Amino acid sequence: MKTSFYQHSLAELELLFRERGLPPSGPGLLFNWHYKKRKSEPCLQNLAKDSINFVSEFLNFNLPEIEVTQCSDDKTVKFLFRLEDGQKIESVLIPFNGKYTICLSSQVGCAMKCSFCHTGLQGLSRNLRTDEIIGQFLVAQKWLTANRPEDDKILNIVFMGQGEPLHNFDAVKMACEIFLSQHGLSIADQKITISTAGYLPGLERWKEEMPKVNIALSLHSPLKEKRDQLIPINKKYPLEEVIKYVDSIPEGKNRFVTYEYLLIDNFNDTDEDAHLTGKLLEGKKAYISLIPFNPFPGSPYQRPQLSKVEHFKSILDQYKIPTLIRATKGDQILAACGQLNSKTASKPLQSPS
Ligand code: SF4
Repeated sequence: MKTSFYQHSLAELELLFRERGLPPSGPGLLFNWHYKKRKSEPCLQNLAKDSINFVSEFLNFNLPEIEVTQCSDDKTVKFLFRLEDGQKIESVLIPFNGKYTICLSSQVGCAMKCSFCHTGLQGLSRNLRTDEIIGQFLVAQKWLTANRPEDDKILNIVFMGQGEPLHNFDAVKMACEIFLSQHGLSIADQKITISTAGYLPGLERWKEEMPKVNIALSLHSPLKEKRDQLIPINKKYPLEEVIKYVDSIPEGKNRFVTYEYLLIDNFNDTDEDAHLTGKLLEGKKAYISLIPFNPFPGSPYQRPQLSKVEHFKSILDQYKIPTLIRATKGDQILAACGQLNSKTASKPLQSPS
């Protein structure tokens, strides 16, 4: 049975070639062909005949197919991908200064059931494989090069699409290794960020196994009752334990933890919420990203006015915690933070901007 080329690290391929007595140059040539030259058809150049036979017998180069592409006025692009088994996932290209960040999905749906998240309503169907994660990047890159050749660079990767990435640790870890590898996609250190609801078993593995990948921890409320309501796994892995664990990790040059705070109108945007958050993070090496809530059909929450968001930030500033208000992009096409849902994804195909 064939496996996807895109789910193997270079070391794994080298082992497969060695076990079969194939020339050791083959895996490097394949990585160069598919990741550096971005070719999707099988490589026939410079490969020994035995290696070509092995590749055609055991590997496939299938990638997710784009079912729908939507572009918003701010140049955000949302893709609805169809996977081999017919499942659907979404990914988003977010523009900044003529370059892009890609927001990837790690699961079909999500088991965490966060109440502010459109994906959470969907439930978990299954984990994505490494090749399905890498495939989102490769297909989006190909789309950009074809449609916006003047600015087609993807410099950052965030796992903030559908799914809790640390709940699908092995596949996400392997994808990150291929993204970071100089033989793979050569994404720079500190340019990959995994967003987590605070899934502690995954954070423990991240600490040991992903030295070059950043974490964005969803904080959303310093108060247990409110956080329980927003992020149900807070009942199993309470914020205090998660923060205690994060604090115990020695500061490293190669990775950062940022705290994300989703601001919901008249729920967690009071002065008291801001002061408690400031006290919780005061003195820590902490960065806060404030995200005004992005409504979606049927959502129980509302976005606060910008003046309230700025007031919340001004209180955090008193605690000398670097805080940024994240610009909302792609909400016109339900591509903004928390809005993805591949079961209700809209169908119209808009022309590329
Ligand atoms: S916010 Fe993230 S972890 Fe929570 S339900 Fe949505 S995708 Fe899952």
